[in-house]
Amino acid sequence: MILIAEYKTKQQKRKFYDSKPWKLLREDIKKRDNYECQECKRNGDVSVDTNEYSESAKRKKIMLVVDHIKELEDYPELALDPDNLETKCVTCHNKKHGRYVDYSLWRKKPKWDDEWW
Ligand SMILES: [Zn+2]
Ligand SMILES: [Zn+2]
Repeated sequence: MILIAEYKTKQQKRKFYDSKPWKLLREDIKKRDNYECQECKRNGDVSVDTNEYSESAKRKKIMLVVDHIKELEDYPELALDPDNLETKCVTCHNKKHGRYVDYSLWRKKPKWDDEWW
């Protein structure tokens, strides 16, 4: 169990995202969501790849993050609540958080993303 009551600073968040319960839960959520972006799915955008081991499926998995629907910072008590978690692709995730990432630049200069891992 994680006993930190708030996740305000980058350090506190990093500690959370680095914790074992989160890492385990994150994988559960991705499995629950079929390794699909739920946002794209809502928009009718997702092409479901049933072959988990195909190249495209692998690529998709790499690009997925598990998002806190209600922000960790504002709702620390929901940090590990599966109902508050959703699988999203990086594009949708960035949109939600208003981040516009230049990926070509990003690759050269990796920047820490809260829910990236
Ligand atoms: Zn998406
Ligand atoms: Zn998020």
